[in-house]
Amino acid sequence: MEDCIFCKIIKREIPSEIVYEDEKVIVFNDVNPAAPIHILVVPKKHIATLLEVSEEDDTLISYIYQVINKIAKERGFAENGFRVIANCGKDSGQEVMHIHFHVLGGKKLGAKIVG
Ligand code: 5GP
Ligand code: ZN
Repeated sequence: MEDCIFCKIIKREIPSEIVYEDEKVIVFNDVNPAAPIHILVVPKKHIATLLEVSEEDDTLISYIYQVINKIAKERGFAENGFRVIANCGKDSGQEVMHIHFHVLGGKKLGAKIVG
């Protein structure tokens, strides 16, 4: 979508440190990392928020977790563990209106539920 930062990253109109890409998803480092490992797993399909996820996205959402699994193993943080966060809407502080899954790790993370 026009004016969407993550669609621009997908189209290479904005640079990013891409760690994985295939026909369905792109994964890149968060520009403002909250942990030593902080990557964003983003479907190439523009879906603004989790409230717009529908049955037709079943395969895609499951696939995202398979990609997270694969990256965690390949990059060596599977064993120590990690956290996956998806923000939705204003109370969560969602800034980018294109769904994405934060994957955080590389240190012992703080409180299990923030706020
Ligand atoms: P949200 O608050 O929407 O769940 O998370 C958006 C995330 O995207 C933030 O952690 C922010 O640092 C990251 N972000 C925003 N703009 C860019 C960008 O242009 N490049 C990259 N790599 N990350 C971005
Ligand atoms: Zn988008």
